[in-house]
Amino acid sequence: MANGEFDFIEIIKSRFTTPCGVVGIGDDCAVMPMGERGDLVVTTDMLVEGIHFLRSEATPEEVGHKAAAVNFSDIAAMGATPVGSFLSIALPKDAQGEWAERFVEGFAEISKRYNIPLLGGDTTSSLRDVCVNVAVLGLCQSGKALLRSGAKVGDTIYVTGPLGDSGAGLKVILEGTERTCEADVLVGRHHQPTPRLTEGVALALCGEAHAMMDISDGIASDLRHILKASGVGAEVCLEQLPMSPELRTICADKGWNATELAIGAGEDFELLVTGGEGLPLEVDFPLYPIGRITEGGDITWLSQGEVVELDTQGFRHF
Ligand code: ADP
Ligand code: MG
Repeated sequence: MANGEFDFIEIIKSRFTTPCGVVGIGDDCAVMPMGERGDLVVTTDMLVEGIHFLRSEATPEEVGHKAAAVNFSDIAAMGATPVGSFLSIALPKDAQGEWAERFVEGFAEISKRYNIPLLGGDTTSSLRDVCVNVAVLGLCQSGKALLRSGAKVGDTIYVTGPLGDSGAGLKVILEGTERTCEADVLVGRHHQPTPRLTEGVALALCGEAHAMMDISDGIASDLRHILKASGVGAEVCLEQLPMSPELRTICADKGWNATELAIGAGEDFELLVTGGEGLPLEVDFPLYPIGRITEGGDITWLSQGEVVELDTQGFRHF
């Protein structure tokens, strides 16, 4: 729904009151305190054929993997551990039988890998398109969930891994680009994202991280959610955005703009986290600094230390 999506969510939000002590609409998950047992975190995300996947391009196993992975990623984004999932699926006639069974294989494989049991769901038919909705419940220590609203002026902004791969993979699919080794890796990242579950928990428990979310729409959009929720601004250094060798190679070969893919394409499902400069020392996996939190309310993009402006034609020196 592009931008209209967020206006609609605001309308929904205005019709309800969130109970005291509960984090409701507006973060990657809802957070509900459960007393001594910690906090319950809940997320739900939907994949619709033709919008989020093409049955002609993704295998059913890949769609099953992705439906689970994008939800696990939202649990990771809070620093919580998933404890159970629910799967609701609408299937047209031509997806019942083999397609549906292979979908479940993909869903079961990733669920088993992270030890997350499927606890229920709903199954119905559909006239034309497959529609999948997954809900995941998770747990974290009381008050330890990392929210979008915790960023502080002076924080460094980090990501947990390379950006732009999934967007480049989608471009390969949509443009019918030749399937080189690099292209295959990028398409794989698009179809089978890795939820950063262990990283999310470690970041929440280390005590040095202040705000976190997962990157589903690209940092140009997602970082703004942290800025809005925290009442801060940000500077992002374009040269510091981590990029995979596969992304660099395909962009050099095809004349694609790697930076645009890295900030705007989305679905990388890496974590975007803010905290002090010492944060990377507190965890045993790489964190890539990409900028810092400032005053103000928007993103300032920097290239070679100079401010550049992002418009529909890409970057323009300011
Ligand atoms: P994410 O990309 O992390 O899944 P979204 O951008 O989909 O987050 O949603 C942003 C916030 O709005 C989340 O807190 C989500 O629960 C909430 N939200 C989205 N759609 C609805 C809806 N139809 N009803 C209630 N809350 C919604
Ligand atoms: Mg999210």
